[in-house]
Amino acid sequence: MSRRTTPLQDLLLRSQLAAVLAASAAYVAYALLTALIDPPGAFPLAYQTPKYWAAVVAAATIVALTAVPHRLKTVYLAAAAGYAVATLFELPRAATGGMSVHLMLWLTLNVLVSFVVFGARPAAALNALGTLLLLGAVVVRGPLPAAQRADWITAVIVMGVAGMIAYTLMTFIENNLLQHAQDSEKLLAARQDAVTDVYGRGAIEEELHHAMEHANRTNTPMSIVVTDIDHFKQVNDQHGHAFGDDVLRAVGKRLRRNVGGIGGMVGRWGGEEFIVLLPGLSKPDALALAERLRREIGDTPLAGLPVTASFGVASYRGTGDTPDQLFGRADMAMYEAKRSGRNAVR
Ligand code: GH3
Ligand code: MG
Ligand code: MG
Repeated sequence: MSRRTTPLQDLLLRSQLAAVLAASAAYVAYALLTALIDPPGAFPLAYQTPKYWAAVVAAATIVALTAVPHRLKTVYLAAAAGYAVATLFELPRAATGGMSVHLMLWLTLNVLVSFVVFGARPAAALNALGTLLLLGAVVVRGPLPAAQRADWITAVIVMGVAGMIAYTLMTFIENNLLQHAQDSEKLLAARQDAVTDVYGRGAIEEELHHAMEHANRTNTPMSIVVTDIDHFKQVNDQHGHAFGDDVLRAVGKRLRRNVGGIGGMVGRWGGEEFIVLLPGLSKPDALALAERLRREIGDTPLAGLPVTASFGVASYRGTGDTPDQLFGRADMAMYEAKRSGRNAVR
């Protein structure tokens, strides 16, 4: 299964993992420490209390998350079920001996962790269910003395408020993530040419500036290839504008396919004219690549039609060379290729 996540989603998953791992490790440490401070008696019988089962669940959670970190939700759901069972078995003691402060604190911590793991709405539903189960179990046990009732009311209020705060925070985070995803999508769409799926004019000009700055800064070569489809007007005239668009898309795709692997970028300069940025490539390398592009387009039909294109290559000349000058040289070379009879590289 291939998983594609954005850096932001990766960051969120790491934060969620950190929260669950910290809470689980803390619970294991708590169980060990309290067992040392106040030994429950002979092993193993004395250790068969819900507190120690819960510690085993916490330890198993750490192991499972180390093995399958991307299964965080499933792992934590299983752990939460384990904690719920342990809590139900702990209730008789908690009810008769007064609400245990320990139990209340751990339950509250799990309320917070559940919001981090499941997100606002699912966690709210899950915690409402958990609270109902807990209260139901207490009610089934029959009336409690006044002091214990006060403890339970405190526990439910503290967990409820913790849940509400977590709900508000998680809603805020989720809305921001959504907004960010929509913004990046729009930004990406704005940089793309609507017809051909390569960079649009504005974006590729920006990239050209960046590439030249980078070449200057790192003292590395960089070249560009300008290409214009031959007799494209005829394609439109004979087969229609929509078919012409198909040819443009096919050209864009072939260009991209051949330069993507070496860090090249393809943009549509306008009409049926494309520009290819080749960071790191010197003039001879760029000429060789352009020759490959020429054959790639001219040797096999595009959208079922034989189509050729003419190519002009120019390379960065160092400090003082501007994007306009560089483009001008490539454009001039491309027109030389046209004059030489088209389907050529200059
Ligand atoms: P040459 O070999 O000299 O380049 O000849 P040409 O016919 O390709 O050149 P010309 O500049 O005369 O024609 C370019 C044509 O490209 C004219 C225009 O209708 C067409 N064109 C420009 N943009 C688009 C587009 O987005 N879609 C389609 N289908 N055609 C377009
Ligand atoms: Mg043309
Ligand atoms: Mg043209």
